Amino acid sequence: MSTDAPQIGSTMLAERFYAATREVKLEQIPVPEPGPGEVLIKVAYCGICHSDLSLIDGNFPSRVPVITQGHEVAGTVAKLGLGVNQWQVGDRVIPSAGRACLKCRNCLRGNFAACLNLNLMAFAFDGGWAEYVVAGAIGCTRIPDNVPMEQAALLADAVSTPFAAVVRTAQVHLGNAVGIWGVGGVGTHLVQLTKLAGGVPIIAVDINDVALERALRLGADYAFRSDDPDLLGKIAEATGGRMLDVAFDAVGITATARQAVASLDSNGQVITVGMSAQSIDAGSFMEFSLLRKQVKGHLGYQVQDIGILAELLSRGRLDLTESISEIVPLSEIHRGIEMLEKKTNNPIRILVKP
Ligand SMILES: [Zn+2]
Ligand SMILES: [Zn+2]
Repeated sequence: MSTDAPQIGSTMLAERFYAATREVKLEQIPVPEPGPGEVLIKVAYCGICHSDLSLIDGNFPSRVPVITQGHEVAGTVAKLGLGVNQWQVGDRVIPSAGRACLKCRNCLRGNFAACLNLNLMAFAFDGGWAEYVVAGAIGCTRIPDNVPMEQAALLADAVSTPFAAVVRTAQVHLGNAVGIWGVGGVGTHLVQLTKLAGGVPIIAVDINDVALERALRLGADYAFRSDDPDLLGKIAEATGGRMLDVAFDAVGITATARQAVASLDSNGQVITVGMSAQSIDAGSFMEFSLLRKQVKGHLGYQVQDIGILAELLSRGRLDLTESISEIVPLSEIHRGIEMLEKKTNNPIRILVKP
């Protein structure tokens, strides 16, 4: 697709995070130039992710003194760097948030997808809470014509990370009994993708009744409160006594991991997707060895997962309409950040529109 190239100004509005003072500022900065092998993308929408908040509150270390945040971008190619011939101005794309370091032992073997030191957009280089962002031409995913830009922005992490947890780490398949602890932003997509993968039954566990109602609407067969003293009994009843083949812990605290492990069938696995500094403390060696239970950590996704999800959206297999909780203009980025921090109206994803 090609359109008339719009005029690109010399400066643009961008959010800037200052590591020393932890300040988030809106500034006019020069529009960046795409280098060789790179494209300049006009940002249509960019998600606000918990990992963006973790940089602001200091839970993630800063790698550079000042950076533009936001790593969940959908937009249109606005300018091509030297040697780029696979894209045209006007193409709708989702850029990859990760750039292989080209130096670690996996990169040196050519296994770039397994890079041990990925440079991440919004952490190592400037991201998409801005009018424009520069990204590698390789790693961009084309957005099908019938997929709305807002939904495309969700694919760059918010849906692709749960996708990789379901398909790659857990390898959920037809007939697996699945439990999902925490049905907020990540967990809601785990429910939808587990359903696509053939999980049955799908059991949502949370302390928030609104989130549990939503999980039922989006595909869960059961919704139980995590503070229910008979939670394990209810899971046993729902699964006909089998218990769970796969339990996703999208919360990532000791209490949820313990419940998830206790709910497993023999050979069952807990996949940790949520993160905190707490310990897993998942039970006795007796319980693990006798029942051959497993706990696996999950992080991230592969670039091709974005393309798979784009096709699922395009062909109507996946509907993410309900995942866009709010769209805030870039000029109101502070309000968007605060809404996610305070979980105002139980958001799945809040998007920024430059
Ligand atoms: Zn993210
Ligand atoms: Zn590497």
